[in-house]
Amino acid sequence: MTAEPLMRMRLRVEQDIFVVRQIGREVAQAVGLESQDQTRLATALSEVGRVLLGGGHTDITFTVETIGVPTLRVAMARPEPGEAPRLAEQLQQVGRLVDTMEVDDGGTGTVVRMARRLPIGAPLLTPDRMDEIRAGLARHVPGTPLDELAVQNQQLIGALDEVRAQRDDLARLNAELEETNRGVMALYNQLSQELEDTNRGVVALYAELEEKSAQLAAASEAKSRFLANVSHELRAPVTAIIGLGRLLTDSGSDELTAEQRRQVDLIRGSATDLLTLVNGLLDLAKAEAGRIEPTWSEVDLKVLFGQLRGTLRPLATRPEVEFTVEEPGVPVLRSDEVLLAQVLRNLLTNALKFTESGSVRLSVRRTDGDAEFVVADTGFGIPAELQERIFEEFYQVPGSMPVSGKGTGLGLPYARRLAGILGGALRVDSAPGKGSTFTLRLPLTS
Ligand code: ADP
Repeated sequence: MTAEPLMRMRLRVEQDIFVVRQIGREVAQAVGLESQDQTRLATALSEVGRVLLGGGHTDITFTVETIGVPTLRVAMARPEPGEAPRLAEQLQQVGRLVDTMEVDDGGTGTVVRMARRLPIGAPLLTPDRMDEIRAGLARHVPGTPLDELAVQNQQLIGALDEVRAQRDDLARLNAELEETNRGVMALYNQLSQELEDTNRGVVALYAELEEKSAQLAAASEAKSRFLANVSHELRAPVTAIIGLGRLLTDSGSDELTAEQRRQVDLIRGSATDLLTLVNGLLDLAKAEAGRIEPTWSEVDLKVLFGQLRGTLRPLATRPEVEFTVEEPGVPVLRSDEVLLAQVLRNLLTNALKFTESGSVRLSVRRTDGDAEFVVADTGFGIPAELQERIFEEFYQVPGSMPVSGKGTGLGLPYARRLAGILGGALRVDSAPGKGSTFTLRLPLTS
């Protein structure tokens, strides 16, 4: 048994409830409960006593558990059984004043057991101390109900003081909260202001960006217009020079000396180069200005490949280069036949121009819903860092010498523009010394 008895008493008449209250407070104080808890226990005891007394006398036992968590236990028993549910309901509120409360309401009577743990700092309940407490309680002289009223009044005043202190605390906390809120609001306002400033900056930046891109678009349009106009104006005189040159060397004209003939041929050759350049510029300017409207139709690729084979064969004169146009792996494609032929002719001409030996090959196959045209050669190849630059106007790989023919540096930019106009894309894969592969990807609409 770890529960040490402290004292017993019997409750007979209503008057005794005051005594129970006094004793309860004294016991609570003696075992080390704090002032508030003393009042709580005293109130719990007097309430339970009041409820139980309705059904006869009640015996009260105080014990203290000294081993484990020190706990004060009070059992209040009366011989008559009560109505268990009603009793439990009546005592429900009272139960909150102690740590645990059990109502045992069987056939042999009613027992209400309460327990309250003692605070950690409470003085140790040694056997000597227990004896001392018992002796103190035995000397107890019950006071009158008036005394008890005075004590209760005192406690009430204490409780009121505490409430006032709590109210003051609350007011202080509220003031602090208000202060904090004001701080947070100030911070929030500052942040909003900063955000607004930043936003204004971003908006201004965007406006500037828009203005710049509009200027860029205008400049690019002006360039295209200029190129188109100049090349258009140049075409007529250049064509005239070529015509005049032909006339001079015609059999019907006066006989020219060998030197004169050589010079006229030179003039004609230069004029023809110039016309090629002017035509290239005009094509590119038209493509850039969006003035090329594709004419869509079902293009028979077998026929188109046949034409390319025929027109390019004369360029593939070198026996070291095998020129192959494969059978198309896609029979028909919805596209613009003229523009498509222009792109492929351009790629094949380049391949033949930059391949000394090996092969030049054209094929087409279906990949992921697209038609993929491939022009592969085993020529000089293009260094990786220049593979995007060759699509810029007038760019030619430094030191790259065409095996035959000349170039303007306008073919690939134009071909890429046309690929875009046809709804596709043109890209290159190449390794210097091994060869290049140009791939034109066009959507298959069927
Ligand atoms: P060009 O009239 O000079 O051929 P392009 O725009 O068609 O103009 O090509 C630009 C440059 O790209 C060429 O001058 C050449 O240096 C390089 N190039 C194009 N095609 C090939 C190829 N198949 N192999 C190696 N270099 C190529």
